[in-house]
Amino acid sequence: MWKEIEAAPADAILGLTEAFKKDKNPGKVNLGVGVFKDDAGTTPILNCIKTAEKKLVETETTKGYLPIPGNPAYGAGVQKLLFGADSEVIRSNRAATLHTPGGTGALRTGADLLKKFKPAAKVWVSTPTWANHKGIFTAAGYEIADYPYYNAETKGVKYDELIETLEGVPAGDVVLMHVCCHNPTGVDLVGEQWDKVVEIAKAKGWTPFLDFAYQGFGDSIEEDRAAVEKFAAAGIDFVVASSFSKNFGLYNERTGAFTIVTPSAEETAVALSHAKLTVRVNYSNPPAHGGLAALTVLADDALYEQWIDEVAGMRDRIKAMRAKLVDGLVARGVEQDFSYIKEQRGMFSFSGLSDDIVEWLKVNKSIYIVKGGRINVAGLTSKNIDYVCDAIAEALK
Ligand code: PMP
Repeated sequence: MWKEIEAAPADAILGLTEAFKKDKNPGKVNLGVGVFKDDAGTTPILNCIKTAEKKLVETETTKGYLPIPGNPAYGAGVQKLLFGADSEVIRSNRAATLHTPGGTGALRTGADLLKKFKPAAKVWVSTPTWANHKGIFTAAGYEIADYPYYNAETKGVKYDELIETLEGVPAGDVVLMHVCCHNPTGVDLVGEQWDKVVEIAKAKGWTPFLDFAYQGFGDSIEEDRAAVEKFAAAGIDFVVASSFSKNFGLYNERTGAFTIVTPSAEETAVALSHAKLTVRVNYSNPPAHGGLAALTVLADDALYEQWIDEVAGMRDRIKAMRAKLVDGLVARGVEQDFSYIKEQRGMFSFSGLSDDIVEWLKVNKSIYIVKGGRINVAGLTSKNIDYVCDAIAEALK
């Protein structure tokens, strides 16, 4: 049946990694793919996870199926991180959490669930957004609409246009928003800007769909969840797709969560019953290992402290590399102002490098950057930073 069918194009970001692997230049640098790297250029297993896994080897007694929403203790652990341990949402049983295969699994579960009850709803995504957002919601049958977000001139958010667009989103539509460390721009809404968004969501009756893939990569775990707390306090319906891929380094363990919040415990129970049906016909029940490892850390005071330190270590390393990149370009006499890279948050930077420069860096210097200029700042190390700064300075001459 495949004879007449054309091959699909490679995934833009993963395709770049393929090209990187084939490159014979020993000095090559991959700033494309979205995983954290330490200064040695490897994606480490966190020490707290290593310890948790050792414990699991000793104590785990079965590989029997998990319930459809996963282990209830995992859901409770996720909710404490999302809302804070003493949150009213938790006390009132207004939230239900399902353990999903990664943040991607959470996004798809949510997309499928909402589609059942809002078959005509559109989903609104930021311009730009993580490419897979459009893919996931299109696959779930949605029409995609865009809201203005990144302002390439000011390197900030197009706040007024964003607000104007959100005011016009029809009731019942879904609005997908990045809670922190916006991918790909690294530019987030702050404080009162979120208050305004929450106010509009409440007044207009559209459904916020929060994507929370980088908790702890912007600032502390608590600071990064500020927007989630604001939505929770508003007493409205919303959902959250969260991921432990980045902050626990559990990329290949597919460890995420889909959380539904409604105005009442009764509505939440109804929503959960339908979410379980959605999961049952998709992947049936979640993979256990990553969730158990994360839960083991969350449930142990000493491991939790160690985790907080390790997340801070990752965050600080990225911030330090941002500074080295910007200062390195200044030191090489580059006139273009790149100081905004220091202000961006999370793993990514919308570098402002044009597609021509990105191509030149790949062809001439074996430096791999995603088209559009998104840099994974964690791909910079003390070994390659001078090479990258030299190359960019040369390219911009
Ligand atoms: N949302 C965003 C914005 C992301 O950047 C990512 C990961 N690149 C995800 C969701 C999905 O994460 P996961 O690997 O846990 O599926």
